[in-house]
Amino acid sequence: MNRRRFLTTLLLGGTALAAGGGALLTRGAGGEALAATFAVNKTAAEWQKILPKESYEVLRLASTEYPGTSPLLKEHRKGVFACMGCALPLFASQTKFESGTGWPSFYQPIAKTVVIENRDDSHGMVRVEVQCSRCGGHLGHVFDDGPKPTGLRYCMNGAALKFIPAA
Ligand SMILES: [Zn+2]
Repeated sequence: MNRRRFLTTLLLGGTALAAGGGALLTRGAGGEALAATFAVNKTAAEWQKILPKESYEVLRLASTEYPGTSPLLKEHRKGVFACMGCALPLFASQTKFESGTGWPSFYQPIAKTVVIENRDDSHGMVRVEVQCSRCGGHLGHVFDDGPKPTGLRYCMNGAALKFIPAA
């Protein structure tokens, strides 16, 4: 499958623009974010070496884990959910909620600048993809049917996240 596609950024923050990222991102033929756009850059081989297989497939190839499979669904301690690829803190435990979808869900990221949101027309749907702003890793999608206070549902792949309990 040719996963090449052009993604228009719907930047919530100004980080990528401020960093000279421009308004248009793209992905390589393998689905991986093009390296030059991000602060943390690795080749596919380097990512494969440091990431578990499922995390690699989600983060670098934008695949989706089977719902209900992530151990993070049952993670209810206080702490931070960080990017599995580059360890950037992405979501605080206080913003996690039970969506019933089978994927870890949050109503907002730790800061608007830690994620990049892109229109995603793949699989015959129009969705908004969520990427890590530091390594470009694919995290999941964001939908507008979440709870208060934001009304947003960040539907994340657990394989893209690493939980760090509060000290
Ligand atoms: Zn990352």
